[in-house]
Amino acid sequence: MPRSAQSTSQQNTPTGVLLSVATIMGQRERDLLAQTLVSTLTELIHINRITMYRILPSDQGEEAILVAETCNHPDDALTHSRVNITISSRADFNLVFTSRDEHVQKLDKKTFLSVYPIVGKRGVVGLLEIISDAHSDIDRRLILAFLKVYSNYLTILDESETDTLTGLLNRRTFDNNIEKIVAEHSPSDDAKVGPCTQHPLRRKDAPELPHWLAIIDIDHFKRINDKFGHLYGDEVLLLLSRNMQRIFRQHDKLFRFGGEEFVVVLDRTSRANAKTVLDRFRTAIEKYPFPQVDKVTVSIGFVRLDKADVPSAIIGRADQALYYAKHNGRNQVCFYNDLVTEGKIAGEHYSEDMQLF
Ligand code: GH3
Ligand code: MG
Ligand code: MG
Repeated sequence: MPRSAQSTSQQNTPTGVLLSVATIMGQRERDLLAQTLVSTLTELIHINRITMYRILPSDQGEEAILVAETCNHPDDALTHSRVNITISSRADFNLVFTSRDEHVQKLDKKTFLSVYPIVGKRGVVGLLEIISDAHSDIDRRLILAFLKVYSNYLTILDESETDTLTGLLNRRTFDNNIEKIVAEHSPSDDAKVGPCTQHPLRRKDAPELPHWLAIIDIDHFKRINDKFGHLYGDEVLLLLSRNMQRIFRQHDKLFRFGGEEFVVVLDRTSRANAKTVLDRFRTAIEKYPFPQVDKVTVSIGFVRLDKADVPSAIIGRADQALYYAKHNGRNQVCFYNDLVTEGKIAGEHYSEDMQLF
């Protein structure tokens, strides 16, 4: 919606700016936070289009993934055809990403294209692209100040959502997000993805495949603590989480669920592939030379995520599969539905077929 000149003059006062900062810091959900920032900047300065990208590694190198966008100028609204952009394919993005400095170019007599880096603890974590009819130093400083507030706030959010020992997402984040994760994992959501949407953090491929939730539990971890001491126990937790980060994909969500229990929400994939990936992780841990402790194994129970299920039921099933793995030799991956089908555990009036309806 076009912004009126009047609203800009009201907003662009110290009180207006402070209120805008307060609004930004009222958001804990990252995509909403990004959208709030771009909307706020649109209110404060004359912008035709503003787009925020998050940077994530991909097979093609770093990729800029559109997370929020506001189009003020009707001509600009439809020109945006790509949601994900490989950084190396756009000279200005590449320059800003490597130099960490903003870059401004004139597109024509009256149009400027500016790209700003969003710098976090781990380097450039995002880019802000602005198309405008003017480029003043006042605007520039306002944008830089807002980006600083935004990135500092992101750092605080990151710290509150991660486990201090392993750096994985913590249990609180799991509890706060599991309902959303389950709800979002409906295949019908894919139809909503397109340019100028606010949910681009999805893979372009495999739209119909389900997600999977796995609970990973270290075998006989108490023995490790007892024999080698807690410091070595902690080292095992840390190295195991590093292996999780190495082996699972960027779009899989990794949590430290409790002491020596971890949860992985696997991105859309087939059941066969979910089993393969989890088994690959299990084998990698079995082979990994943990200092002093040497051999560590894990047991894993996993289940398919389905929108119709409540989170506690999903966790309960994965836990049942894990329990089965623990009581039948450990160091193995068990799929809840297989165990039910094979009569190894009792299902709760539940079968895979029922999920079709
Ligand atoms: P199982 O194979 O059945 O899972 O046996 P286990 O010994 O792994 O399971 P149990 O639940 O008996 O013991 C888990 C141990 O994990 C007990 C607890 O002291 C230890 N633990 C929990 N959190 C931490 C932590 O942060 N650091 C260390 N070093 N140990 C921890
Ligand atoms: Mg254990
Ligand atoms: Mg345990």
